[in-house]
Amino acid sequence: MSDTSSNPWPAPPDTPCALPARVEVEVAILGAGIHGAALARELTLRGVSCAVVDRGAVGGGTSQWSSQLLHGGIRYLQTGDIAQMKEGLHERAAWARLAPSRCRWEAFWMPHRGIWEGFTHRVGIGFYDRWGSERPGWPETLALGAVPKAAFFADPRAKGTKFRGAVAYTDLLTHDRDLVRDMLASSTAALLDFHELEGFEEGGGGLSAMKLRDRRDGTARTVAAKRFVFALGPWMDAFMAQWFGEATKRLRLSSGIHLWFDPKGTALEHCERPWAMMRSKGRILFVIPRDGLIQVGTTEREVEEGWVPIVEEERADLFGVLGRIIPGIPWKQLPVAFEELGVRPLVAAKGGTDKLSREAVLETHPRLSNLSLVLGGKLTTARALMDRLATELTGQACPASRTEPLRLWDGQGKAF
Ligand SMILES: Cc1cc2nc3c(=O)[nH]c(=O)nc-3n(C[C@H](O)[C@H](O)[C@H](O)COP(=O)(O)OP(=O)(O)OC[C@H]3O[C@@H](n4cnc5c(N)ncnc54)[C@H](O)[C@@H]3O)c2cc1C
Repeated sequence: MSDTSSNPWPAPPDTPCALPARVEVEVAILGAGIHGAALARELTLRGVSCAVVDRGAVGGGTSQWSSQLLHGGIRYLQTGDIAQMKEGLHERAAWARLAPSRCRWEAFWMPHRGIWEGFTHRVGIGFYDRWGSERPGWPETLALGAVPKAAFFADPRAKGTKFRGAVAYTDLLTHDRDLVRDMLASSTAALLDFHELEGFEEGGGGLSAMKLRDRRDGTARTVAAKRFVFALGPWMDAFMAQWFGEATKRLRLSSGIHLWFDPKGTALEHCERPWAMMRSKGRILFVIPRDGLIQVGTTEREVEEGWVPIVEEERADLFGVLGRIIPGIPWKQLPVAFEELGVRPLVAAKGGTDKLSREAVLETHPRLSNLSLVLGGKLTTARALMDRLATELTGQACPASRTEPLRLWDGQGKAF
């Protein structure tokens, strides 16, 4: 489960940073979300030194507010983006191998309202599970395909709905922030978390160093590098405007919320399987029992910043959808243990960029020749994207990236 912190940049801890005033590496990475951490691992696997800098903690940004699914994207059955789906399914298998203790295979029930919808779900899910048939660590006890009617109607969520049955498909559940931390722990990167940027040094048509101030105790540090990568998630545009005066909008930002209900003593207490319900425009409503709570999400609202507070309409929209689709549960009376909001970095403009997939782009900065920007992307595809970037930066491919298990971050965090 995610950290409940709603602030991406909380006060720093007391433990001091032991790094010297000047750190010299091959590659400096700004942003310690899933992309920054994944790149640090890729460079380490290739024997290339790097430093990871963040204003806050590792995995303290968008990467802790996801739906926590490593998936092919069942919604692409509706939008028809099969290439994207296949890439996600391929990567899902890699995660199951790399991080078995942070991943759990689940059978998601997708309910349907009638024979025709049930038939189309069976066909679509049949393809989804066939394309995703590589499932390391698969528990044979998990049942896929048509859900027995008795089991479906025994679930309290089925009561009072128009649903006539369900088809089960599989995906991986994870703990997103722990996954980011494990990625970083699987690298030898110099970590400069809780460091505020104070400026850049330029030379030879590119960047040469970042000037930083440790937020713990005010110590000044410099990170000098040959290559720079910014992996700032939804903060990229605001950052490039602030530091380089750029007006270009590379991203579209869309917020999504999750509500976490406490099911103890309620009708939802004995729900076992996650449900995924198709909404309009390829959106999915998830209701996922996990970690003793019920996670419900998500929504989409265009926003202007990398993190924004939840607005009342967003919450009301989610309650409205829940009430319409699953009317038998008194959602408004259930205790909300906590709520969280994340901002999706979606790629806006593709001109002049090296397009790798529909949702993720690597851009070489047009003026600063040794600067790469990571735009968009998902948890699921972050390893693959950073594998490609590391190969591009170092000229070395690394097949071990898909198989070398992750190290656990100080043995802490949540495991399945
Ligand atoms: C609601 C929601 C649900 C999602 N569900 C899923 C899902 O189920 N599966 C999936 O695969 N993907 C999902 N995603 C997408 C995924 O979570 C994100 O695309 C991914 O986490 C982005 O990672 P990132 O490393 O690019 O950005 P981030 O995790 O945001 O990392 C950027 C880092 O940059 C740092 N930073 C920002 N500004 C500065 C600065 N000035 N100086 C220093 N550091 C700075 C931040 O502190 C942060 O740590 C979801 C996203 C949302 C919003």
